[in-house]
Amino acid sequence: EAKRFGRDRLEVFDQDLHQRNRDRLDLEVALRRALGEGELQLHYQPQIDVASGRTVGAEALLRWLHPERGVLLPAEFLPLAEESGLIVDVGAWVLTAAMTGAAGWAGVDGEDAPYVTINLSARQLAHPGLLDDIDAALAASGIAPSRVEVEVPESVTTDDLDATGEVLKAVRARGIGVALDDFGSGWTSLTSLQRLPVDTVKLDRGFVIDLTSGTGCGGTAVVEAVTTLAHALGKTVIAEGVETAAQHVALRGLGCDRAQGYLYGAPARTLAAGVAPG
Ligand code: C2E
Ligand code: MG
Ligand code: MG
Ligand code: MG
Repeated sequence: EAKRFGRDRLEVFDQDLHQRNRDRLDLEVALRRALGEGELQLHYQPQIDVASGRTVGAEALLRWLHPERGVLLPAEFLPLAEESGLIVDVGAWVLTAAMTGAAGWAGVDGEDAPYVTINLSARQLAHPGLLDDIDAALAASGIAPSRVEVEVPESVTTDDLDATGEVLKAVRARGIGVALDDFGSGWTSLTSLQRLPVDTVKLDRGFVIDLTSGTGCGGTAVVEAVTTLAHALGKTVIAEGVETAAQHVALRGLGCDRAQGYLYGAPARTLAAGVAPG
């Protein structure tokens, strides 16, 4: 009896696995098609200067307008793209689309035009064609490299640091900025900060939540320490996931340079450049 039960369970499990593999393959085929059919789209989320409240830049965030399933978020398809290697082609599309989109942005009231910041994945950073893809995007868009920044994920592990560092040096040699994304969300943050050539530190949303959550997690002390450290190293600090005015006020008090979050604007098709409530 126990044996039969076990075998049934195994069959159910096999079917699940089989179905999952088929779903993954379907999604991979669909994503490859989506790339050719123009179903990928970028949304832009404003980044503001904390002191003035002005929009100084925007992060490009990928969306897939799936014909049947509606708008898909990166979490629903990027892990698969990363696994299958499709991220390299998707990423090349993102680079050109983001730079071309941002090339048309103008500054308000004689201010500099906002910069665009573009997410890179670990696999893209390890791909030998990345610099060529960046150069192609720069050439196609005609944007000034000083208006472009790339974001390096926290998931770039210690093993990859030397190689990643070399790539980022080459990126910076082109005049493009480098940001460390989700800083503090993993264990390797301090090593990455010390060993990678970066201009900007993006404070993870978790720290922003702790700032005013009242749970006594030392949120203020941590943000203050990270800001002090980053400034001592000559880097800009940006907080992500800012949702409330109280968080904004706390960040301003701690000397955080820039901020991004629903408080200032959600990711949208067009960048609404202007002055945020402050
Ligand atoms: P990320 O780079 O850390 O981007 C920030 C994420 O937080 C975005 O999610 C954004 O929509 C969301 N967000 C912004 N403000 C708030 C807020 O106030 N509260 C909350 N709760 N969330 C906020 P999204 O667009 O779903 O992107 C998720 C992740 O997917 C990104 O995290 C990034 O790692 C990755 N990603 C997005 N676009 C690309 C891309 O073009 N290429 C690569 N390689 N990765 C991308
Ligand atoms: Mg990012
Ligand atoms: Mg982030
Ligand atoms: Mg994040």
